[in-house]
Formats: sequence, structure tokens, C-alpha cells
Amino acid sequence: MDLGLKGRKAIVCASSKGLGRACAMALAHEGVDLVINARSADTLSRTADEIQAATGVSVTPVAADVTTEEGRAALLEACPSPDILVNNAGGPPPGDFRDWDRDDWIKALDANMLTGIFLIKAVVDGMMERRFGRIVNITSSAVKAPIAVLGLSNGARAGLTGFVAGIARETVRHNVTINGLLPGPFDTDRLRNTIAARAEKDGITMDDAMARMAETNPAGRVGDPDEFGQACAFLCGDKSGFINGQNLLVDGGSFPGTL
Ligand code: NAP
Repeated sequence: MDLGLKGRKAIVCASSKGLGRACAMALAHEGVDLVINARSADTLSRTADEIQAATGVSVTPVAADVTTEEGRAALLEACPSPDILVNNAGGPPPGDFRDWDRDDWIKALDANMLTGIFLIKAVVDGMMERRFGRIVNITSSAVKAPIAVLGLSNGARAGLTGFVAGIARETVRHNVTINGLLPGPFDTDRLRNTIAARAEKDGITMDDAMARMAETNPAGRVGDPDEFGQACAFLCGDKSGFINGQNLLVDGGSFPGTL
């Protein structure tokens, strides 16, 4: 299926590894020129080379912390008029809400709510004028089914989701869609770090802990980041202009509701 994206330009935030990288790669395979981003310049530059070699598109790495104003300005300078914006950042740490002070909350809100909102604010009017825009916010299955130890994530991502639900109804008339993509468990560094900590706590091997996690999912496995990237590219396609204001779970059917 040709998604009609050849020659489009995308900013994909937090994309040297994991889900962001998979979104960048899937878009690149559709012929989208990319600005990719992460804090660690070495990994980012390696990823840029790999995507370029695999797809032939132009890939500009911007090493910056996307949760800062300077970081976002650097991304926008590299691509002032993107057709596609994929919002992403690292997730906040787990813990007990009794231990979190105001600074912890502000950090989570900055990373997982306000960063996305400020980038949308910076690009959405231009997208509407040009009559094409696709914005995908990588959030979490925790938006639909909160995870108690991830209270910072539950709260901050719910804020972004609520904000987007409002403005997506104003932008779609101009062919600019805004959707959330909600990952369940995907085999990324972040998931492996979480599972390693759990394995240590439970006194089991990493392989056993991974197998346990896979077994709790209806699919009997965790997700491959490529699967997530493909879903992102589809939402960005030129024929996806009527899919708007949605929050698409990509979780192997783990969420137990009918709808
Ligand atoms: P990952 O494999 O650890 O990759 C995170 C990527 O984001 C890396 O490229 C990292 O590079 C970059 N990054 C992190 N903080 C950044 C910042 N402040 N500025 C710029 N780049 C930054 O993580 P992932 O599993 O892909 O997760 C992506 C998002 O999805 C996270 O918010 C996570 O909480 C959420 N999520 C993941 C899962 C899952 O199963 N994987 C499930 C639910 C939700 P640097 O460290 O070099 O900056």
C-alpha cells in the first residue's frame, strides 16, 4: 500500500532507539525526509546513517533534549515546516505517589504533556495553511488502563490526551489530524530495563521474566517495534485524513474492554 507520503517532511522526536526509531524507519520507507532526535549524539548519528542507508531519504539528526525550549527550537530550525510531527519522549520513572514532590511532577508534565503541546503549537498553523498535517503522539496504554506505579505517566499523558481531544476537532477541517498511538509492551531498551529490575526483585532470570511478561499478553508475546512504526506510518498516510482525535491501542489486545 502506497501511503502517498513520498517527499513529505517529518520531525520524529526521541527517535534514536525503540518506538521513535521504528516510526522514523517506517516513514523513511515511505519516502519521507526526516529530522530525528535524541540526547545522545553518537547513537543518534548511527541511527541516522542506518535509516539513510536502508531507505535513501534525507535524515538530519538533531542531538537535543526535546523537553527543553532550546531542544525544541533546534528541531524546528532543522525543519521549520514539517508535514508530519511524531511527538515522543522518555517515560517518567515508576514509584509511589507519596514520594513525588512538585519537581517530579513538573518534570513529568514537561516531558509527557507540555513538550508535545508546544511542538503542536509551533507547527499546526503552518500545516493548516498548507492543508496537510499528520500529528501522532506516542503516549501509552496507561492512558486507557492506568498502571498504579506509573502515576506520573498516567497523569501527564492524560493531560496531553485531553488537550488533543479538544484541538483535533478544529484542525481536521484543514486536513490536519492529531491522534494518539498507545503502546502496550514493546521489545525496546525501556521495556528490557523495566523487566531486568523486576527479574532481580523476583530472583528469576531475564529470559524467565520476559517469558512471563509475554504470557500475560493475549498474543503470547510482546510487540515488535516495527509493528508500532507501521501503525504510525499508516496514521500519517495521505488517505488517513478521516482518522482524527483517536487513541489507538497497539497492545496485542491486552486492554480487556469491548471498545
Ligand atoms: P527507549 O527504547 O528507551 O527509547 C527512548 C528514545 O527516546 C531514545 O532514542 C532516547 O535517546 C530518546 N529520548 C529519551 N528522552 C529524551 C529526551 N528528553 N529528548 C530527546 N530524546 C529523548 O524507549 P521506548 O520503549 O521506545 O519508549 C518510548 C515512549 O513510549 C516512552 O515515553 C515510553 O514510556 C513509552 N512507552 C513504551 C512502552 C514499551 O513497551 N516500550 C510501553 C508504553 C509506553 P536518548 O536517551 O539518547 O535521549
